[in-house]
Amino acid sequence: MDFRFTDEQAQFRDSVRRFAERHLAPGARERAHQAGYPWEVARSMAAQGLLGITLREADGGQGGSLIDAVIAIEQVAAACPRSADVVQAGNFGPIRVLAEYASQEQKDRFLKPLLKGEAVISVGMTEPDAGSAVTELKTSATPDGDGYRINGSKVFTTHSAYAGVILAYVRFGPGVEGIGSVLIDMKAKGVRKGKASAFMSGEEWTELVFEDVRVPNEMVLLGAGGFKKQIAGFNVERIGNTARSLALGRYAYERARQWAMQRRQFGKLLCEFQGLQWKFADMKLKLDAGQLLLYRAAANADRGFPSAEETAIAKAYCNQAGFEVANEALQVMGGLGYSQEELLEYCLRRCRGWMIAGGSIEILKNRIAESVFERSFPQRA
Ligand SMILES: Cc1cc2nc3c(=O)[nH]c(=O)nc-3n(C[C@H](O)[C@H](O)[C@H](O)COP(=O)(O)OP(=O)(O)OC[C@H]3O[C@@H](n4cnc5c(N)ncnc54)[C@H](O)[C@@H]3O)c2cc1C
Repeated sequence: MDFRFTDEQAQFRDSVRRFAERHLAPGARERAHQAGYPWEVARSMAAQGLLGITLREADGGQGGSLIDAVIAIEQVAAACPRSADVVQAGNFGPIRVLAEYASQEQKDRFLKPLLKGEAVISVGMTEPDAGSAVTELKTSATPDGDGYRINGSKVFTTHSAYAGVILAYVRFGPGVEGIGSVLIDMKAKGVRKGKASAFMSGEEWTELVFEDVRVPNEMVLLGAGGFKKQIAGFNVERIGNTARSLALGRYAYERARQWAMQRRQFGKLLCEFQGLQWKFADMKLKLDAGQLLLYRAAANADRGFPSAEETAIAKAYCNQAGFEVANEALQVMGGLGYSQEELLEYCLRRCRGWMIAGGSIEILKNRIAESVFERSFPQRA
């Protein structure tokens, strides 16, 4: 067992860090409060080879491993927390599911602009009546000639305000076996954006309404019976959420650590008060423990999908740890930490969302309990 990066990984880490410090650190605070998608960051990351890190070279990717993509998220977030979302979108989210299961035609049409940083894809799973119980989704795919008619709606979809295509979970028939997915072009007739809203993080989302949207057979990603494959791919997205939770917690910790070594009160540096030293010790414990769980889940996946159990353990722990560390770091910086002069309040708000998004902590703990007792616990009444 070796807890160090390989030479190649260390070189990659250092080169991403240099790129991030040079191109992303300037303007990091403004970017965190800007609406919309940071397209200029996406394009510069594409040029740097940071989109499609884990995708096959034949598909326009870099042929790297999941741990490489995690390293990229960490190094980018350390310089610009908001830009870590671009690493997520270009490596961990629905782009990875698309690359895994798409036909050549689907890849040609959708993957290329995503990898150039010119478009973004959303995953539409959640519906007004299907949140944690996602298999209760109602959006229907009804056969119609050489394709399907899609009817239904999706809520809370990240990037929905500006995505070009939606990887939508749909129902081809009853039960879990009836669930699959289609690619819906946002310009297609019958796609409507409902009420616009925003999360506590500032990220915009809009309700997506599908009214008799015609989807040809060629735009079906996975037909009926595809749910398990989709969720296996979704575990990659969870690893990205896990990595960002920890990375934003670490960003806040690092800023507070620097502050504690320069800010004086009562004639002493903050770091000289034992009450604050113990806060830092607790933060460090959480960050290091979370890091090991994250790297275990990512490293064991290598070039495949991560294990559901290791992902659940890493995500549940790191979501909590990232939030708690950001919260304590903010406390250490006092009024300045609570102010938009610094990015700690932003990190705290973002970390809060990942405790809900991509499988809430409670739902992940349900999954962990199933591993503990080696049996399933159906949640349905
Ligand atoms: C920042 C953010 C980004 C998101 N991005 C996307 C996206 O891109 N695409 C998408 O499809 N969705 C997205 N979502 C939606 C997200 O997946 C759902 O919010 C999540 O699955 C929870 O569903 P819900 O909000 O309906 O809560 P509910 O399912 O109503 O749950 C409410 C509470 O009850 C708890 N709970 C529910 N069932 C159980 C149970 N069996 N045992 C114990 N506790 C339980 C939950 O953990 C939660 O705390 C996003 C959400 C957020 C916050």
